[in-house]
This record gives sequence, structure tokens and C-alpha cells, in this order.
Amino acid sequence: MQKTILYLIFTLFLSNLALAQEEYYFPGEKFDPNIPSPSQFLGYPIGDWHTRYDLIVKYFEKLDQISETAQLQTIGYTHEHRPKVILTIASAKNMGNLEQIRQKQLQLADPSQSKPDVSTMPSIVHLGYGVHGNEPSSAEAAILTAYWIMASQSDLAKNLRENMVVHIDPTLNPDGRDRHSLWANSNKGFPPVADPLDREHNEAWPGGRTNHYWFDLNRDWLPLAHPESRVKVEWYHQWYPNVTTDFHEMGTNSTYFFEPTKPFGSENPVVPRKNYDDINPRFAKYFAKYMDEIGSLYWTKEVFDNSYPGYGSTYPDIHGGLGLVFETASSRGHLQASQRGDISFAFTIRNHVVNSLATMEAALDNRVYLHDYLREFFESAAAEGGKDAAKSYVFGDEFDDGRNRLFVRFLLDHKIKVYENSADLTVDGQAFKKGKSWVVPTNQPQYRMVRTMFEYVKEFADSVFYDASAWTMAAAYGMPFAAAATAKSGTEITTVATPEFTFPEGKAYAYLIDWSDYYAPKILFELQKTGIHVEAIHGAFSSQTQDGKVEFAAGTMMIPMGFQKLKAEEVSSKLKELAAKNGQKVYAVQTGLNLSGIDLGSNKVSAIQQPKVLMVVGTGINSYEAGEIWNLMDQQLGMPFTKINTEQFGRVNLHDYTTLIMPSGNYNTLSEGSVNHLKDWVNRGGTIIAMKNASLWLNQKGITKEAAVELADAPKDPEVLPFDTRNDFEGAKEVGGSIYLAELDLTHPIAYGYHRNNLPVYRNTDIFIAPSADKYLTPVKYTANPHLGGYISKTNLEKLKLSAGVVISSSGQGRVVHFFDSPNFRGTWFGTNKLFLNAIFHGDNMD
Ligand SMILES: [Zn+2]
Repeated sequence: MQKTILYLIFTLFLSNLALAQEEYYFPGEKFDPNIPSPSQFLGYPIGDWHTRYDLIVKYFEKLDQISETAQLQTIGYTHEHRPKVILTIASAKNMGNLEQIRQKQLQLADPSQSKPDVSTMPSIVHLGYGVHGNEPSSAEAAILTAYWIMASQSDLAKNLRENMVVHIDPTLNPDGRDRHSLWANSNKGFPPVADPLDREHNEAWPGGRTNHYWFDLNRDWLPLAHPESRVKVEWYHQWYPNVTTDFHEMGTNSTYFFEPTKPFGSENPVVPRKNYDDINPRFAKYFAKYMDEIGSLYWTKEVFDNSYPGYGSTYPDIHGGLGLVFETASSRGHLQASQRGDISFAFTIRNHVVNSLATMEAALDNRVYLHDYLREFFESAAAEGGKDAAKSYVFGDEFDDGRNRLFVRFLLDHKIKVYENSADLTVDGQAFKKGKSWVVPTNQPQYRMVRTMFEYVKEFADSVFYDASAWTMAAAYGMPFAAAATAKSGTEITTVATPEFTFPEGKAYAYLIDWSDYYAPKILFELQKTGIHVEAIHGAFSSQTQDGKVEFAAGTMMIPMGFQKLKAEEVSSKLKELAAKNGQKVYAVQTGLNLSGIDLGSNKVSAIQQPKVLMVVGTGINSYEAGEIWNLMDQQLGMPFTKINTEQFGRVNLHDYTTLIMPSGNYNTLSEGSVNHLKDWVNRGGTIIAMKNASLWLNQKGITKEAAVELADAPKDPEVLPFDTRNDFEGAKEVGGSIYLAELDLTHPIAYGYHRNNLPVYRNTDIFIAPSADKYLTPVKYTANPHLGGYISKTNLEKLKLSAGVVISSSGQGRVVHFFDSPNFRGTWFGTNKLFLNAIFHGDNMD
């Protein structure tokens, strides 16, 4: 009895507490007392702390346990092994029919099937939060929104539960979220400090925006370089949500942004106009209504880019849904001073909560309309594809199975239909071999994604880009491809397997492995790690192998059996194992006397030194570029290397390393002593790989002497321009990110493994460097007509035509390899990764 009274008092106290603590977000709202509120569960009101990711998951687990209207799934894991979860909420009846609801949604999105009766179908809403870890209000809003949908007694919430299936992804980027939360919580003052200069508001490098490898996951929906996005997109294609949200934060002095985005200028060319002209304005009315109610300021139609398909708010637009980006002013920390007074964390959270509710209300009111649109979208896609002059795209690199596999798998991940090419084919003067090439027909529901993969876009309504203006993925993968007037094809491809080659058993004088495959550097690293001695053959030749006469290009790896520390059987068994694992063909030869070209003991053959690599990171360094390199070394090569902070550079003994990578950044903090040590090390044979403005710093310090491109008759800016044109005028001069055709010197070691002298490259810098004064040391320059896709100003294009992509500067016994393009961009430029890896493995042969 006493216990019951105590319990009653306790629960009464708790529900009053809940009422008080959630009152700010949901004034006057009644909630089901059987569902614990976030403040009851966490022990603090939302907004008081940055909620740790494991606690968000724990709260969602609780909701799953106590009610049949919620279900939590783990769809994968992040690099740091945090679970990626999705909480699904719907009425108990709909939860019981969830699989049938999903199947109907898939049927709706598939024009080859009959259209289901949409009048009875619930709308599918995906609320995505927290892709940027240091924009933390969104995940807190996710917690409150989940609670509201499940526990609110309002008519709207009841209606939603009956007629909608809501999927909540509380944090697209849990690793970055926790990095930031730890910072904000551990630097919080009591009372909170609003001064923007306080440590709480200024995270340490690289900040929490990005994931484990310092990648912006709000660029990764297209590249799928990371597990967070791969599982997300896989999940997306299981549901085809009608609406998908993406909640962000912007500057503290700003207000709130919701779509529509800037008309035409920031829109994607393949998305139907109806999305921008009709659906977005319908939704905007709801956002405005909710924001007006709480008196929060907002804006629309300016600045935010909505064109790049890798954004979480653009990818859904290319899949028959509505993708929505929201941005709130940030308190970055718990309280921060702004031009409108102090902004609290709770204020920013409330902005996202009301827009979450507004999104659901709009999706509910437009339920049938959105279903009809989803159907129309895929029907019109297939129909437009059927009318395209290109009936299919043919692609494939006959020299590189590894990269072919990566690209085919990538297309399948985006649910694009791919077929075998059943005959040798020549299109636009390019030869595509049967078995080494594939066909993607344009007449398919994913036609708009097919265009995204294969089309170059050069005409734009605007000239200022927030980000990339080109994303032709076939070019990123370095795939030879062509648009074909016919769509003939063989069997449809559904899986991609590593090829199996027969290993040449028995005695060998030497083994040979071609350098053309994407995974050749990986097997080289693994062989060296095992203690196997490997040499590089710096010239073309042909040998008698187990398959008869074979032609080999410069860069081929040789394992000479007379110079191994391990026993012959150990070398061959290890080689066999690694070759099978990496899908590499191994040739055995019984003599060093070649059939043509240089012999195996030529002076043009040299031992490949096992690289010991160091990369500068930390304050002042471009974390994206450094992260792309780290990701390449870990995920593609499996090669450990040292990342040294700029602050510790003075302690390093460079003579312990063969190669120093300097990403773009500010190196002025390095001491005079460090600069001298660097000079001495390079002069004694070290290799520096310098990216973009790191090269300018090396020039400044006299370590290299490369010259900038100057145009004799460059147009001058007008002396006076209207004040409000400043952003557009200056922005148009930047190279936001676009694709160019470069010309390779195939005889230079940087081009080992390449067979065509033309290669698409990605560039996002306006640093233009002239070819080297030494006429042999500009192995990558631009073609006479280099512009393939994306925006560039006329003046910059003229400069580009005169500039170099890669230059080598000799310095004593050592050298600097300068990259002015982005060979590892977003973990997706597989076509240019080998230029960079060649600098690591063959740097000492480059000058
Ligand atoms: Zn953001």
C-alpha cells in the first residue's frame, strides 16, 4: 500500500517534471504518461547537455521495448564501431503490416509493376539528423520528435501514427557527433559562458563535423566512400521515402533556413521542375506557419546549393522523393552571444523540432499527392530514358579489373541496371572488349542516376558554387566510356566477384605482376611486409611465361627468386595466397633473357624501397585532403603510416622516413630549424609529396622554384562595381570543383599502370603553376581543350590550358612531387589514385 502511494507520488512527480521540462518545446501538449520523456530517461532537460550517442541509442531502445508502435533496427556500424540505428514509428496496426507497406512502396516506385491503390497507403517519412557532428541541435531534436510522435495526445500526432510510417535516423555521423559532444560538454562552464572566444565554442582540429577519416558525410551519398553512407543508401532503396530531411546548423548570427533553395542556380539539372516549383513551396508554407508561431526568424531561396547529388537533401530529389535541408543558427556550445542576444542550445533544438513536426504535417496533408509524384517520377524517368539519343553507355578498362569491379559494384549500390557486353565493340573510336566491358541502358527507372554517372554538365544558370559543380562518376573512376546508339547487352549483372587466376606452380626464375590493376600497389605493400624482395622494371618488354609470350609495360613488378631471404617454397606460397586475395594474375618466367625489350637484370630494373611514410596533419592543415589520403592508405592499401601534428614536427627525425606528404595548408608555424632539417633531408634523397598550396610554401622557403602561370592579356576587373554584386563577382573566379582532361607522359614513373595518355582529373584550386623549367619533369599537364565538366571562368580556363597538373622538382639527391589537382578527391577518384600511389612507391625514380 505504502509502496503504491510512494510510486504514485513518484510517477506524478516525474510526469510533472516531464511536463515542465518538455513544456518549452511542446507548450500545452498532453503526453501519454506510460512513455518516458527524454528528460525522465536522461535525467536532465534536453538542451542542458550534448547527449552522448550511446544514450540516444539507449533511449530509442527503451521506446522500442515499451511500445509496439516503435521498432529499432541496427543497419550497420561506423568506422569506430558505433551502431547506425533507425527507429521506425507507426500505429500498432501498421507496425504489424510493415513488410507489406514496404513492398507496396517498392511496387509504387517500380513502373514495370501495376500502380497500387495509393489512397490507403501511409506516407513514408524519413527524418534524418546530424550528418555534421558539430551541428548537434539536430540529434537532440530527433530525441524530442520521437517522443512527441509516440506520446503526444494531440489530434495531429494520432493522425500521423495512423497514416504515416516515420523512420528516424538520429545521427548520420555518430563518430563526429561524439567527438564534438565530448568537446562541448567537457568545456562547459557553470554558469555557461556566451563569449564566442571561449574554448567551448572553438573545437580543436579537425572538429566534429566530419567522420573518422575527416570526410564530410553530407557529400558521400553519391560517392559511398564510407560505411555510414553505404548502409544509409542501401536502406533508402529498401523504402523510397516520400520525404527525407537533413538538419544542419550555420553561423551564430544567422537565423533559420528552409527550402526552396535558390531557383535554377542551385538546382540539379536532372530533377523534375515539379519538385522545385510545386512541392517545395507547398512544404514551405508549413515551415513558415510553425516558425511564425514561435516568433523565430527565417529565410529561403538564397545561397544553399542543392545540386550536388551527394547531399542528403539532393539524393532523395533524384529518387522520386522530396529532400529537405534545414539550417539553424548555431549556439556551438550551450550558450553563445549573437547580434540578437545570447542563443541557447535549447533555442536551436526547438527550431529543428518545430520543422520536424511541420514536415510530417505537410507530408500527411499531401500523402496521396506525394505517392502520385513518386510514381510519376519513375515513369517519366524511364520514358525520358527511352527518348535519349544515347540508348546505352558502354564502359570498361581492359587493363584494370580491380577498378572495373569497383565501378560495377558502385553502380549496383545505386540500383542502376548493368549488363555484360556480349561482343567486342567500337564506339566513338574507343574499343570495348567482351568480358572487360559492360552496358548500362538509358531506358531504366534509374535513368536520372545514369545521367549523373555518365553525363558532363558545362552550362550553368549561376557561376558561384558552394561546392562541386561536376560529379561525372565514370570520370572519377577513370573509366573509358561512350554513349552508344544501340542498347545491346548480355546477361544482367547482380554481383561482383574477385577474379580467380591459376597460380603457376613449380620452379620459377622470377615472377612478374603487371602494375595496371588498381590493387597492384596493395599486393606490393603486402609482399614487402612479408619480407619478399620486389623490383620494378622501368621499361617495356615481352617474356615467355606459363601463358606463352606476354607483353609487359613499364612499372611491372618482378620477384627475382635468386635474391630472397625466404625459402623459394615460402615465397611462392605467400605470393599465391596474396595474389588470390587481391585478384592479381602472377606470371612465372624461367629465364631472365626476354623475348623483346630490356632483360630482367637491366640497369633499368631496380629494387623497390619499402616506403616509410609520414604525413603532416593538425592545426592549419586541410583536414579533408589529409583525410582523403589517410582513407586511401588505410582502406585501399592497408598500409600503416605516421600522421604527425604540426606542433610535433620539430621533434621528428625525417631520416627515419622515405616520404613526407604535405597536404594543402598553412605551414608558417614550422620553425626555422624544421625548415632547415627538411631541406637537408630532401637533399640527401627524401621525397616530398606536396599538394597545392603546400607547394607554394616550399617555393617560398626556397626548397623548390616553380613558377605561377601569368596571362599576358588577362582582362582587368572594372574599377567600380555595385556593392551587392561582390559575392557573385568574386565567387565566379573560384574553381569550386570541376573535371578536366589531362595529358600523361606514359614514360614517366608517375604514369606507371596507365595505358592511355588522356586522363580526367579533378581540380578545386585556383593555383595555376607553369610546366617545369626542366622539360622532362612535367608528366601531367592539361590538353589544349581540357574542360570536361563543371564551372570555370574564361580567364581561369585560359590559365589552366597553360598549366601543369603534376610537376617534379629535383633537389640534391631528393625531389618534390607537386600535385595541383585532387588525385584522391572524396575517396572516389579511383582513376587518379595511382598517380598518388606511384609517387609513394616510385618517387625515388621520378627525377
Ligand atoms: Zn551542416
